[in-house]
Amino acid sequence: MIEGIYLDNNATTMVAPEVVEEMLPYFTEQFGNPSSLHQFGDKVGRALKTARKQIQTLLGAEHDSEIIFTSCGTESDSTAILSALRAQPDRKEIITTVVEHPAVLTLCENLEKDGYKVHYLKVDKRGRLDMQEYKSLLSDKVAVVSVMWANNETGTLFPVEEMAVWAHEASVMFHTDAVQAVGKVPLNLKESSIDMLSLSGHKLHAPKGVGVLYLRRGVRFRPLLRGGHQERGRRAGTENVTSIIGLGKAAEMAMESMEYEHTFVQAMRDRLEQGILESVPHAFVTGDPRNRLPNTCNIAFEYIEGEAILLLLNKMGIAASSGSACTSGSLEPSHVMRAMDIPYTAAHGSIRFSLSRYNKMEDVEKVIEAVPPIVAQLRKLSPYWGEDGPVEEPEKAFAPTYA
Ligand code: PLP
Repeated sequence: MIEGIYLDNNATTMVAPEVVEEMLPYFTEQFGNPSSLHQFGDKVGRALKTARKQIQTLLGAEHDSEIIFTSCGTESDSTAILSALRAQPDRKEIITTVVEHPAVLTLCENLEKDGYKVHYLKVDKRGRLDMQEYKSLLSDKVAVVSVMWANNETGTLFPVEEMAVWAHEASVMFHTDAVQAVGKVPLNLKESSIDMLSLSGHKLHAPKGVGVLYLRRGVRFRPLLRGGHQERGRRAGTENVTSIIGLGKAAEMAMESMEYEHTFVQAMRDRLEQGILESVPHAFVTGDPRNRLPNTCNIAFEYIEGEAILLLLNKMGIAASSGSACTSGSLEPSHVMRAMDIPYTAAHGSIRFSLSRYNKMEDVEKVIEAVPPIVAQLRKLSPYWGEDGPVEEPEKAFAPTYA
């Protein structure tokens, strides 16, 4: 089991022991190619069908043929967006948000170079979208809307089901990157207008290197990978059978533990947040605290660097993650923190704690004890922190360094 305290489950999760157990026979005893017509292939083909059904159930999809296995969330995102563009060559616009994962943002930036017009919906200080702006952009020039279900840094949830209805009213395809939402929020796709959805195995206690693209029946589609007839010709390449079988089991377990996520995991997250905020001054929650994933909290510690906090936490065996990305020697706050207009003095010190059902309340109590002395120690070294509080106008003093 896990050594240390792992609170970085939005980055990746431990593969559940039950999932590993389910996978093992498919490396050695049941190693056939699911497309082969002999008994070796047939057994594996049937196991693949079971996994497809398990995913269908988790997503609340109409039919198991709507499940396409891919290699990861990134592949599912690319396939969805590129398919929508290729299937409707007369439509040259995309609507997305400024806070998407790079899996969508980097693709969109490249599509702009190819001549597509991308509309990036902005967010407010709490990370919420402006629905009026969204509605005003929908038109018959738009090929696809791609909006994440839950933000990976803050956990903030977007009203994608409602947004998909508006997209359909304007005859526009709707895709959602639900990589962080699947397994943490209940889904019922057959009752929604969502056309395409991406998920990734390693975020829900299945292995890395396996994902799913949900494709509603009847939605026009162009494959990204062409070749063999696997996945009904929609994604060529022999399936990653063992991981898919693991993902099926993980989906079944996610269904069973959904209530636990919204009771015990959420209670641990709330206790962690309350414990830290009570004992650390000049710290606040980023994102929308009333509308977010049950496992995620992102706290901005003003006047210090997130990386320094992470390093000291790591020394104590505690793993979390920061909202900054180290690019070319300078620490820039993440695009999500910048989009929410979090002041520089706080955006640099944002830490994401993301929990799972494998965490324990006693671990949370240990983290609550560990954080305040670390923050106090770092603030003593900060030029923006005086004897017993921030120096005057820290905002102005801090900003030019990172401008
Ligand atoms: N989308 C979101 C919201 C994510 O958080 C991630 C991974 O962190 C991805 C996409 C990419 O998933 P994968 O690592 O499976 O490619």
